[in-house]
Parts: sequence; C-alpha cells; structure tokens
Amino acid sequence: MISENLKDVHNRIDAAELRANRNAGSAKLIAVTKTKPVSDLMEAYQAGERDFGENKVQEMLEKQEQLPKDIRWHLIGHLQTNKVKYVVGNVFLIHSVDSLRLAEEISKVAVKKNVTADILIEVNAANEESKFGTALEETLSLVENIAKLPNISIKGLMTIAPFTEDAESNRKYFRALKELSVDITRKNVDNVSMDILSMGMTGDYEVAVEEGASYVRVGTGIFGMRRLSISE
Ligand SMILES: *Cc1c(COP(=O)(O)O)cnc(C)c1O
Repeated sequence: MISENLKDVHNRIDAAELRANRNAGSAKLIAVTKTKPVSDLMEAYQAGERDFGENKVQEMLEKQEQLPKDIRWHLIGHLQTNKVKYVVGNVFLIHSVDSLRLAEEISKVAVKKNVTADILIEVNAANEESKFGTALEETLSLVENIAKLPNISIKGLMTIAPFTEDAESNRKYFRALKELSVDITRKNVDNVSMDILSMGMTGDYEVAVEEGASYVRVGTGIFGMRRLSISE
C-alpha cells in the first residue's frame, strides 16, 4: 500500500509541476514518518524515497540508528533549545527555526562540532495563534539577525498552512510565502539563500507545488492515518 500511495503522490506532484510550467523534479517529496514504525520507513526507502521528515528528536534518533545512512533526515517539528545538541550534525535540514534564541543555540553547537547547520525559517503565514513560526512581517529582520551568526546557513522558508478540507483556501498563504522569499532575495543578505520553500501537506500539497514549493511534506497520504497524540 505504501509504495502504491507513493506512486500516486509522485504522479500528483508531477502533474502539478506541469500545470505550473515548472521543471520536472523541481518539487521534492519529504515522506513524513512521525509515529510510524521503522518497517514503514523501510518500505518507502525500498520504493526509492530518501527524504524523511520527523517532528520529534528522540524518535528521529531511534529511527536513524536502524535505517540506511544515505537517508536525508528533515527535522520538521518545533525544536527546543535543549535538544539542539542532538540535532546539529545529524540532519540534512532543520525546517523549524523561528527565533533568534534557537538560531543562536544552533550556531553555538555547530561551531563546537565544526559543522554548518542548514536551516529554514518557519513562518506563521496565516497568523494562527496555535502555530509556531515568525510573523510574515518580522521574517526579514529575523533573517538578517540569524545571517550574522557563524556556522548556520539559511536556505529558505517553511510554513504549515491551516488545516482545511479546502486546499484552495491555502493558496494565498503559499503565495505569500513565495512572495516573501522573493522580497528577501532582493535584499541580498550575505550568507542567506531563499532557494527552498517547504510547504504543502497531504491536504494541500498539489496547490503548494503550483505555488512554487520545493519540498512538500506528506505523511497521511503515504502512510495512512496516525493515532492522535498531543504533539500534533
Ligand atoms: C505531520 C506533519 C506533516 C505531514 O502531515 P500530513 O497531513 O499527514 O501529510 C507535515 N509537516 C509537518 C510540520 C508535520 O508536523
């Protein structure tokens, strides 16, 4: 079932790229595997997936130990400063940086480990109270401040759009994130790139691809429903 779902998701991503006149393969899939067993991840791996997203540090570390080393791990959940030391040097990309304090801790650990941490800035594009992320209008100044820190490199923006049955209603938020990335690119901040836009989940990833997503993060649409937990 997982490999069939993956085929379907890839077909839908390809079709959305075509509709938007985007290059084939320019929108990549992150298989979101939180709460799912290692056997599910292995099935996706064998179907060719190499980008996996987890939202909890401990769960990610446990899975990493049991899975092939060529997987690119994406930390997509809220990151607490006391967990930063387990993450830096261990993941391909941190999607969820939304404060200078967190970025300072990432930078500090990265200096100590002599690595560069690649990050995205999480933006609360719909201004939802329940969500983490910087406000749209505060993002540029956060980017400018983080850019001054050593051993941390901003690669783009991430957003979690509102949960909705109607994917079209999230188009405006994806568009806003894209526009923000273009505005920030124009500022030419040293050490900052806006190449990556991480946006779109099971309910709305096709719209996100049409609006320029470079990564979509799909869980339920590949692995089926998760049992509910307080962290979601
Ligand atoms: C769980 C999660 C996803 C995937 O959600 P689905 O609706 O299951 O596709 C994507 N992004 C983040 C940040 C998540 O926590």
